[in-house]
Amino acid sequence: MKLRVLGSGSDGNCYVLENEKEALIIEAGIPFMEVKKALNFNVMKIVGVAVSHSHGDHARYVQEYEKAGIPVFKPYAQEKIMTFPKSRFRIQVFDSVHDVPCYGFFIRHPEMGALIYASDTEYIKWRFHGVDHILVEANYSEEYMSQIDPNYVHVMRGHMSIETVCGFLEANNHPGLKNIVLCHLSARNADAGEFIRKAGKIVSCPVYAAEKGLEIDL
Ligand SMILES: [Zn+2]
Repeated sequence: MKLRVLGSGSDGNCYVLENEKEALIIEAGIPFMEVKKALNFNVMKIVGVAVSHSHGDHARYVQEYEKAGIPVFKPYAQEKIMTFPKSRFRIQVFDSVHDVPCYGFFIRHPEMGALIYASDTEYIKWRFHGVDHILVEANYSEEYMSQIDPNYVHVMRGHMSIETVCGFLEANNHPGLKNIVLCHLSARNADAGEFIRKAGKIVSCPVYAAEKGLEIDL
């Protein structure tokens, strides 16, 4: 199973979990056409799209998928349980802490184990057992923001700092953890290299910063 980053950040989010036969799209924040191109127009392999919340950088292109007849999972607008027919992906949702209803995903597939996805959340209320991969928002640095704006807490509400991410990693760290991917980094208030170093002090597996074009074997 591969994780591919097609977009990460306030310009538009889109991540793909893909193997030979199946592709699960996480977030509809970039045009469907870009996703089709990335999949070499093998649209039939898309089992569905999971969207965390209604903000445009995550949900702007939902209708393009729906028009194409692709199942879109919107826990913020409908029931919280969805299986994608004929797919081996299983998704459970957990609630996030954002300024609109927002959900994280606990995704399992026999080829990759369990992956946690959480973006646009101030913190993660839950602890998880036996997680293999974590794809998590690291939007800004509290250390940096407190230097440039004493009111930063108000400005950054609903997003997760690298310091909070590190606390989450400490709480969920275990020897089976295989990959950490930091996503939704702010263009102005995040330093990818520094964030990777900070998270890397906590876990012993590889840590990446999501940027367009990144591909990781899970
Ligand atoms: Zn949002």
